[in-house]
Amino acid sequence: MSNIDELKQRIVDEVDTRREELIRTSDTIHAKPELAFQEFEAAALLTSVLEREGFTVQRGVAGLETAFVASYTSQKGDRPIVALLAEYDALADLGHACGHNIIGTSSVGAALAVQSVLDEIPGTIQVIGTPAEEGGGGKIIMVEAGVFDDVDVAMMVHPSTRTMSRRTSLACYELKMEFFGQAAHAAGSPDKGINALDACILTYNNISALRQQLADDIRIHGIITHGGSAPNIIPDYTAAEFLVRAAEKDHALAMLDKVEDCARAGALAAGAEVRLTRPEKYYANMAPSSVLADLFDANLTTLGREVQLPPSSGRMGSTDMGNVSHIVPALHSYITIAPEEVAGHSPEFRAASASPEGHAGLLDAAKALAMTAVDLFSNPDLVDAAWEEHQTRFG
Ligand SMILES: [Zn+2]
Ligand SMILES: [Zn+2]
Repeated sequence: MSNIDELKQRIVDEVDTRREELIRTSDTIHAKPELAFQEFEAAALLTSVLEREGFTVQRGVAGLETAFVASYTSQKGDRPIVALLAEYDALADLGHACGHNIIGTSSVGAALAVQSVLDEIPGTIQVIGTPAEEGGGGKIIMVEAGVFDDVDVAMMVHPSTRTMSRRTSLACYELKMEFFGQAAHAAGSPDKGINALDACILTYNNISALRQQLADDIRIHGIITHGGSAPNIIPDYTAAEFLVRAAEKDHALAMLDKVEDCARAGALAAGAEVRLTRPEKYYANMAPSSVLADLFDANLTTLGREVQLPPSSGRMGSTDMGNVSHIVPALHSYITIAPEEVAGHSPEFRAASASPEGHAGLLDAAKALAMTAVDLFSNPDLVDAAWEEHQTRFG
């Protein structure tokens, strides 16, 4: 057995030894779902496990109370720095129906397994706790705060109904629209009114007309958040929120311009004023590192998992891991914990996230992440290769 195979075998054994502890940790987070930026108990639980094992833990990074960075460095040298990302936020009403309890715990399990062999190879293993993936974009804030500036590669695994390491995600922009008209008695003096709801409905319909001419990667969807106050008053104020998504940032921005034109046209037709607000934050598309994906797939295969290609029909959302992938080579793999007919963000997926299949996914994710980290620590040329690809994409 080569040295690297021996290290990987020890990693697998270490995760198996910690099996009960990891499952308990994941199920504890699952049982107490916490929403974006409020993941106090989950962050406390994960950091306490790491701290107890000798990791240096920094809490409240990037000004976010529930974000953290936990590090452990080999005595043989501190580079490369491999970061494993932990998510642990839940969904309103649905709890852990995206399985982020498995994401957080698999990264912690992987880091502990890497630690058990890290005094034989140089490098630093980090767990970076990233709050609020489901709206709020914790990683976007952390990228801007420089949390990933020294990181050499970043990796995480998301539970899913498929096992795949190369799935991309859509860039996503939010657009707020407000329409301003003139209130008037809807029966007594309609001619004195300017109908802000007409402006909003026309905008919605303009966007619906635009949909026929969209490329396959574009998604536009929205709701009316304020439609007026009373049926006998011509509405003087309405508001809507839309999300505009595309495979690439530039496509999304070009489409955002067209959606804004739809709103201006709706307002013009109704004689209303419009105010359009683009938040500064946006979810970037995920650009998976093929170097990391190759390594990760090989390790998953060793563990007996069948690796699948992403479905050709798209069917994807957005993640703030995309923003991380634009500044450092990144892996955002998926691992199967439920049959393909189960929808994400559903009660069935929530159940899967604490099921025997969920536990198996958690343990295999921890093992494959740790094995991939050991590949990188043992052969830093791989890190250079990942950066070479990254530079060709992002300069
Ligand atoms: Zn989700
Ligand atoms: Zn998710």
